[in-house]
Amino acid sequence: MTAIVIDGKKISQELCESIAKKIKESRKIIPSIALINASADPASEIYVAKKVRLAESVGIKSSVYKFEGGTDANKIADLIRKLNSDAGVHAILLQSPLERGLNFRNLVDLIDPRKDVDGLTTINQGKLFTGEPDIVPCTPLGIMHLIRSVRQNMTGAHAVVLGRSSIVGKPTSQLLLNENCTVTLLHSRSQNTAEICRTADIVVSAVGRPRYVTRDFIKPRAIVIDVGINRIEIDGAKKIVGDLDFDAVAEVAAAISPVPNGVGPMTVAYLMYNTLQLAQANTA
Ligand code: NAP
Repeated sequence: MTAIVIDGKKISQELCESIAKKIKESRKIIPSIALINASADPASEIYVAKKVRLAESVGIKSSVYKFEGGTDANKIADLIRKLNSDAGVHAILLQSPLERGLNFRNLVDLIDPRKDVDGLTTINQGKLFTGEPDIVPCTPLGIMHLIRSVRQNMTGAHAVVLGRSSIVGKPTSQLLLNENCTVTLLHSRSQNTAEICRTADIVVSAVGRPRYVTRDFIKPRAIVIDVGINRIEIDGAKKIVGDLDFDAVAEVAAAISPVPNGVGPMTVAYLMYNTLQLAQANTA
């Protein structure tokens, strides 16, 4: 292997230490986050529990609202309205993906944009794309932090983002554009994907397909960030892998962020960061 492996776990721990320090020093604000779990993903319980543990460790108060399968959207809507008017709650997260039949866009847009901790309301997404964001989605913030850990000045770099979701691909493209990268956003209908990727100095893969990004996609000395989370079975054992054919890509890349211990812990750390930002911005 020639690539540097970017240690997202360590970087996220450093970020969390600085968040905990700020909360301790501020004394007057105890940031608070409400986590709404109406997710179809069986792993969501584990993700939410992780967020609760991390929140506690940095000094953020958290509360979890769990909805079972078949929940009426009105019940979730009522909860969001209640949390919006609760001055003791600074941040609200609607865990995705939602149960079948629940419309994420309709529900997330009920969150008061001042409490929208993952920057996913239409208002906050719009502000991001007009260049004046109040709050930026957590995963893209984590991705940018990992890239910056190995390359601070991105001006003029060609960055390719694979995947165009509102939660990862599109906002990451905007953040890379803000850093003066030339950005290419690819998706399932794109043509010549590997060929275009091979011209990139920075590749961010948020597709959700194991071993999709092979060595052929990567220009020598590129920076490669793997966002994908894929559950696969190897020899009867369940494993979490990203989108990269990791060992092969690591042979050519300059730096590579792995799965697990790459973007995942950064996302949760930035959830804490954004909660603190919202608490500070909205406490008189
Ligand atoms: P998503 O909404 O399903 O979006 C996937 C994107 O990949 C879509 O834009 C899709 O294109 C594109 N795509 C599919 N096949 C492709 C191909 N062959 N070539 C290029 N693009 C292709 O997923 P998401 O929410 O963005 O998440 C993406 C992955 O990141 C998932 O594995 C997810 O679990 C993971 N994730 C990780 C974190 C973390 O914290 N580590 C956070 C969020 C998501 P179309 O638009 O044309 O369909």
